[in-house]
Parts: sequence; structure tokens; C-alpha cells
Amino acid sequence: MDFETTLITWLPIIFFGVVIVLLVYTMRFMPRAKPAPVVKGSQVEVSWDDVAGLDEAKEELQEVVDFLRNRKRFERLGARVPRGILLHGSPGTGKTLLAKAVASASGANFYSASASSFVEMFAGLGAARIRKLFEEARKNAPAIIFIDELDAVGASRTGGGFHREHDQTLNQLLVELDGFNARDEVIVMAASNRIQDLDAALLRPGRFDRQVNVAPPDVAGREAILGVHTRDKPLAADVDLDKVARQTAGLTGADLANLCNEAAIFAARSGVQYVRFTDFEAAMERIVAGLQQRRVVSDKEKRILAYHAAGHAVMSHLVGDLFPAQKATIVSRGQALGYTFNTPAEDRYLHTREEFVDLIMVFLAGRAAEQIVFGRITNGAANDLERVTDIARSMVFEFGMSEIAPSRTMRADNYALSEETKRLRDSEQARLTDHAYDEAQRLLSKHRVSLDRVAEALLEKETLDRSELEALLADVRPESRSSETIGTVRALPGRD
Ligand code: ADP
Ligand code: ZN
Repeated sequence: MDFETTLITWLPIIFFGVVIVLLVYTMRFMPRAKPAPVVKGSQVEVSWDDVAGLDEAKEELQEVVDFLRNRKRFERLGARVPRGILLHGSPGTGKTLLAKAVASASGANFYSASASSFVEMFAGLGAARIRKLFEEARKNAPAIIFIDELDAVGASRTGGGFHREHDQTLNQLLVELDGFNARDEVIVMAASNRIQDLDAALLRPGRFDRQVNVAPPDVAGREAILGVHTRDKPLAADVDLDKVARQTAGLTGADLANLCNEAAIFAARSGVQYVRFTDFEAAMERIVAGLQQRRVVSDKEKRILAYHAAGHAVMSHLVGDLFPAQKATIVSRGQALGYTFNTPAEDRYLHTREEFVDLIMVFLAGRAAEQIVFGRITNGAANDLERVTDIARSMVFEFGMSEIAPSRTMRADNYALSEETKRLRDSEQARLTDHAYDEAQRLLSKHRVSLDRVAEALLEKETLDRSELEALLADVRPESRSSETIGTVRALPGRD
């Protein structure tokens, strides 16, 4: 055969071959008569006892269980029941586990899907899957729908273009959430680690309007989790779970479950009857080596974290009860490090300049403590500094709280401001925060004993709640407002 004949014989075959391959390939992504399966509803068996630590989250979710079990009682009283619950926390902290426990305790069918699986190539498929998922759940109510990685569809809308599919999927989810009626015994639980990125529409009342924080475990939590995951394992007498817990700061529930399993494997391979402490040590070594981003927090780092958090807590006590510390912790949550406080006890719209300065000092106290105790500072205060910058900027730019121009705003978008005024304005903002930082250092040095005391307690327990903090600081009287001593007034030259 010459070349031409070969070509004539083979070309159609190759052509049809390519067409068939292409067809098969596209079919894979086309909506089918039966939409791609979301995980089928099922009865799961996870008891509350399988979920260790997380007491606050469990308590809040108990209410959902109550509702599903005694719907009538809630309805009689006209109570609006939760529809969407957002579990907020990093991967492996037990969010799926909690959702399963809720389903299990309330005898509801459990449906689960990962939001990332909704975002498909062809328009409409993600939306169709969501529709199907809700339809199935309604048919098999009572049901819990668990949507993992909500941010995959729930990230702020993009406004068309490449992300139309994503938007359609999100819209469908909103439609479904709004389409619930009072009779539906379906509750949607979703998990996300990035609430701040979620589309605001998702968080409106009637949608995911409840947020439950699923915190990474502190030392007591880790011990409890180790307890759960060694329940079925024969432990040697030398295994001290408290000790293991102390050496695993930074690990999540999933890591710890894994750790227990690894320890059992080490023991089995050595042919012993019990899992020994050395098996846990070997497992820890392996697990820690395998974790790339998360690491076990070193003792040295722990000390810095402890003083940082203690700085915040002591300072919030020192400035009075305006921003009472709710909790201090050295368990990192990826947010403002180690410390939470409530906004002012009384609900007010107006705040004085002094109060803003106090707030700035509370935020700066973490870094100030690091400076005083270790003589050096870390990046751990980045979040704090951002808040401080925002507050000081608002004070000077918008609230007329600078001493250079107490009767007007000096916003960044005001082009009428002279260069001189802008320079003064910016230096006034800097002066405000610099002074607050000095004050924070002065106050914390003066109360070094209390600072040490809180830091030591944090090293021991990793988290301290409000009453524990109050007890530790009972003998410290709040100081008068430092802000009154803030620098001298500089007159503003002429008009702009
Ligand atoms: P998430 O959904 O937050 O990513 P998971 O719930 O899927 O985490 O956790 C994975 C596994 O880790 C669980 O199945 C369980 O074995 C273990 N685990 C996580 N958190 C806990 C916890 N608080 N108590 C007991 N086990 C936990
Ligand atoms: Zn801080």
C-alpha cells in the first residue's frame, strides 16, 4: 500500500475514533437523567460521648436535637427554630463528627456533601445537585444536611464572568434555604474555616444565622480526645494521656485520632500485648514529621504565646470592665491571637476618646508583654496591629478625636486637605498609637507580677475562662485612664 491509500483507509477511522472519545468525554460532564449521587441519607451512629471536648458547641447543638425530637413544644410557643447552622473551625476539629452526633441523637437521616463537589464545569449541574439533595432530605425528614467546605460555593459572589457556575450554585443554595417552611424537619449544618470570606447573603436571618465555634482542643480537650480514641485499645500502665496531651499542643482531633492509631500499630508491630508510652512517643514523632504546616508548638513558643495572651488579659482588666476578657488561650485559632473579649457590657453607640484609647491599649498589650518579658517582638501581633491601626485612623480621620483638629474630619478622600494637614494628621495617628504602646508597656511592667501569674496559669491550662481570670487578677485594681495624659496639643496651622 502506498501512502495515499493508507491515509484514505485510516483517516475516517481516526476521525470517528476522535469523535467518539470526545463524545464520551463530554457525556461525563452532562447532566444525567439521574443526577450524580450526593451521599445517600443514612442513619449514623455517633454518640455525644464520641465527641470529646467541644462542650460549648455540644451544648448549643443540643438545642437542635431538642427541636427535632420535640418539634411540637417549640411550635406551640411560636419559637422560630434554627434552619441553618454554621460550624466554624479549622479542618479536623470535629465538625463532621458533631453534625453526625446531632443526626444520631435526634434520629434524623444524615445527608452529607462537600460543597466543592457542587462546583462543576457545566452550567446548572451544581445547582441541580443542591436541588436534589434538599429534595431527598425533605422526603426523608427529619434530616440533617451537612455541607462541608461551604466556602467552595459560598465565597463572596464574583459578579459574572468565569464564575457564573459558582454563582448559580450559590443562588440555588439560597433558594433552598429560603424555601424551607415551618413544617420541614430539615436542618442544614455547614462547615467552614473562613466565615469572613462567605457571601453575606448566606449569613442573613433565616439562613446560616447561627454560628457555632468549633475550637481546636486545649490540653484538657486533647486528653479527652485521646481518651475517646484509646477506649478500644489496651493501654500499658505507663501510658499517661495527660502527658501525651501536654506534648501535642497544636494538634487537632483528627491528628490525635491518627496518633492513637499509629501508636497501636507500633505496638502491634513490636508484638506486645499493650500499647506503651514509647509507642505513643514513636507515633508522635511520625505524626509531627508528617504535618507540614501545623506543627507541635514548642515550649519556647508556648511561653511567648502565654505572655502575649496574658498581656491582653491583664490590660483589659486594668482599663476597667469596659472590655471584659471572656477567655484567654494559647491554643491558636488563626485569628487575633489568644484572646477574646466581649464588646462593652452595656450596649452603647457612643464611646469616648478615652475608651477608644483603652481599647487600643488592650490590643497592643500582647506585643507590649512580649517586649517586656523577652525583649523582642514577634509577628504574633499582626492582627492586633491591624485593629489598632483601624481604630486610630477612625479616631483621627473621622471622629475628630485628634487634638490637632477636634472639630472636623480629615478623611483620606478629602482632596481639599493641604499636604501639611495630611502630614500632621498622619503623625497624629502615629503619635496616638505610639503613646498607647508606651503606656501599655508601662502598665504591664508595673503589674509584672500579675502578668507572670496569668502567663503561668496559661502555660498550665492553655485556656482560662472569665472566672479563672477574675480570680487570678482579684487583687489588681483597675488603673485610671491613661489616655488623659496623652501628649500635648499641636495647633493646626491656618486653614487649608
Ligand atoms: P472536620 O469536619 O472538622 O474536618 P472531622 O469531624 O471530620 O473534622 O474529624 C475527623 C476525625 O477526627 C473524626 O472522625 C474523629 O475520629 C476525630 N476527631 C476530631 N475531633 C474530635 C473530637 N473533638 N473528639 C473526638 N474525635 C475527634
Ligand atoms: Zn494579640
